[in-house]
Amino acid sequence: SAKNSGRGVFRFFTTDYLKAATERRELEEDLHLAIERDEFQLYYQPVVDARTDTVVGAEALIRWIHPVKGFVSPAQFIPLAEESNLICRLGEFALRRGCSDAMQWPKSLRVAINVSPVQFAEEDFVKIVQRVLRETRLPPERLELEITESVFVSDDEKVQQIFQGLKNLGVRLALDDFGTGYSSLGYLRRSPFDKLKIDQSFIRGATEFASRNRPIVEATATMAQALSMVTTAEGVETFDQLDLVRAQRVNYVQGYIYSKPISAEEFLSRASDNWQIVPSGPARQRADR
Ligand code: C2E
Ligand code: MG
Ligand code: MG
Ligand code: MG
Repeated sequence: SAKNSGRGVFRFFTTDYLKAATERRELEEDLHLAIERDEFQLYYQPVVDARTDTVVGAEALIRWIHPVKGFVSPAQFIPLAEESNLICRLGEFALRRGCSDAMQWPKSLRVAINVSPVQFAEEDFVKIVQRVLRETRLPPERLELEITESVFVSDDEKVQQIFQGLKNLGVRLALDDFGTGYSSLGYLRRSPFDKLKIDQSFIRGATEFASRNRPIVEATATMAQALSMVTTAEGVETFDQLDLVRAQRVNYVQGYIYSKPISAEEFLSRASDNWQIVPSGPARQRADR
């Protein structure tokens, strides 16, 4: 009967829900141990000059190799880490490892590190960056920090002071995932960003007929130029997407069309002065995506 099946659905729902909650709690406990156990690695995705196909640097993307679960996506564990001050320890790990890895690369290459706004609540984030630069000896202009306003930031004044402190160190600032979440025009107006990263959700589908993404990509690129910022297009996978961002004079491209994120070892072995990558991928996106 309808009543029985209704109860069945309910039971199914609660079991699933409990399972998800348990998994989440387990993951959180494991996350605490993972730093001690050295289970994190940095992968690097080349950032490429869209005009010349020359690699100008890489974004460091953290990977968690869980002893039982295997690969866990940062999209899953970064939000968990942001609920505790674990994100600060993870963030410092990424910063330190990224800067010391970059010291091994040709001097023409920069490294970009993702920073959670939660890290700004730390006692002195600017001092931490300064110390890591000093200890690794990486020239500040080779470091770029990527910031998403993904988490509500309550004290904007303090955040602006931190941005200014970072600029004074000589590091570059990029606004990540622009156009999504809280990464708003107000944030852009107030903050001294050098670069704007166009989110992949706008690139995807931008080349389809009558796409509403396309004018957003175009307007974002134009606005960034007018504000003297450089731009990166994220998530470029196809040649028609590459053509579109090139036509809009987007400066840099990061996407599977050039390279997926690769291990630190592989990046180091491929990196050279004047490293060019031949783009390769489908001409256009499959219609069913
Ligand atoms: P993000 O900073 O916006 O990084 C770009 C994401 O897009 C990466 O996912 C990258 O692998 C993916 N991507 C790049 N090109 C393509 C493409 O052509 N197609 C598709 N489908 N995807 C592409 P990933 O590595 O899974 O990282 C997800 C997010 O996790 C990052 O987004 C960033 O917000 C966060 N994250 C990663 N590492 C760190 C870290 O060390 N600290 C902090 N706070 N967050 C991190
Ligand atoms: Mg990023
Ligand atoms: Mg991004
Ligand atoms: Mg993103």
